[in-house]
Amino acid sequence: MEPVLTLKNVGFRYGMAWALRGIDLEVNEGELLGILGPNGSGKSTLLKLMDGILVPDEGKILVRGKALSSLGRTSVAREIAMVSQENYFRFEFSVLEVVLMGRFPHLGRFQFEGPKDLDIALNALKATHALDLAERSIHGLSGGEKQRVLIARALAQEPGVVLLDEPTSFLDLKYKREIFGLVSSLSADKGISVVVVSHDIDLVSQYCKRIVMLRGGIVHDSGEPAEVLTRTNIEAVYDCPVLVDNNPVTGKPRITLLG
Ligand code: ADP
Ligand code: MG
Repeated sequence: MEPVLTLKNVGFRYGMAWALRGIDLEVNEGELLGILGPNGSGKSTLLKLMDGILVPDEGKILVRGKALSSLGRTSVAREIAMVSQENYFRFEFSVLEVVLMGRFPHLGRFQFEGPKDLDIALNALKATHALDLAERSIHGLSGGEKQRVLIARALAQEPGVVLLDEPTSFLDLKYKREIFGLVSSLSADKGISVVVVSHDIDLVSQYCKRIVMLRGGIVHDSGEPAEVLTRTNIEAVYDCPVLVDNNPVTGKPRITLLG
């Protein structure tokens, strides 16, 4: 099957400084792909390129075989949804209003949301276990609640791909697990491709079938958790000593920081 997203030799620079170089990467239908790498390694830049917010300085990006650069903003939004780290709301929108914003790529110009859009928004809230928040203000939510609402907004977009930039930072253990469970069910049950950037290496190890590890703007390694999450790789990329063994329950690599 044709990949949903294809990056060919993609490079991007801010001014003169290259943030990413020589990125070759495919995102397949319905897969849950994890992106790891230390701060500044280019993870957010990579997601912004995949979402078309940034345009490559080198190479090209294809969406189901078509050049991303040839698609209008609305066509891109029908295919790709981003849950970014920048999610400040200036106004006191209700949760339902925020989720309805996800419907914009499906509305005509000057067209308001109809009953079908409302239905889709409510179902998206249901899927992320956030239906009871519908009437609340987006400003009054806890970190975990807000993250579920933002994922619901992405789902309301009915995209083929959801990109998540550190969706579990600032969340406690229970919510981290819940968010990973949720995104893994999006790929397993709904066939949505999910690309998740995270610093939670153990969760990525457990939930993602494939991992791409970035270092200094290039792909250091990629493959299954057992191939990528080796002591050598992690020490090289994160620059700190670790112990890697297998989680006795999942059999996946498990990382312990050494003092
Ligand atoms: P990560 O998400 O892995 O922490 P980023 O993609 O945010 O990494 O950043 C990659 C590199 O690009 C870093 O060196 C960062 O300082 C630089 N960078 C990111 N955003 C900008 C920007 N808006 N202007 C200039 N440099 C930037
Ligand atoms: Mg980042």
